[in-house]
Amino acid sequence: MGRRRSGQHAHVTLGARTARRRVAVESVLADHEEFVSARQLHSLATLQGVRVGLTTVYRALREMEERGRADVVLDESGERLYRMRAADGHQHYLICRSCGTSRAIDSSALEDWVERVGKDSDFAALEHLVQLSGVCAPCQDVTREDAPGWEDSADLG
Ligand SMILES: [Zn+2]
Ligand SMILES: [Zn+2]
Repeated sequence: MGRRRSGQHAHVTLGARTARRRVAVESVLADHEEFVSARQLHSLATLQGVRVGLTTVYRALREMEERGRADVVLDESGERLYRMRAADGHQHYLICRSCGTSRAIDSSALEDWVERVGKDSDFAALEHLVQLSGVCAPCQDVTREDAPGWEDSADLG
């Protein structure tokens, strides 16, 4: 079972160390079910005792994006949010603008359209980034409770 080591000292290259940190970043992301920014993921990693720098987190996320291992959405300020991609591949999401919760949506019509555009044009390797945002049901309830009028009438009392 155990791998035999030839030398007395395990030789750890910088590359191996970096790779190990990236694997750690990936596993923190895999455990998180919602989209997170690099900064949020860095805090989560720190809380879990994973010691990585913010730069490593950024790099690991970009690499996962390039390798198709993470899905990406942009938040309202244009910051990239990441989520581990499901094993069955490419996915689109509906994301709540208020709390950030997300759910995968059926995008087969969109994918068919993209494929058709690819065939009808002389472009190759088409990429697309499509996201839908809205306000989820729990957040709609909060908005209703916070509606003006409630507080106004309370002040009058
Ligand atoms: Zn919400
Ligand atoms: Zn798509």
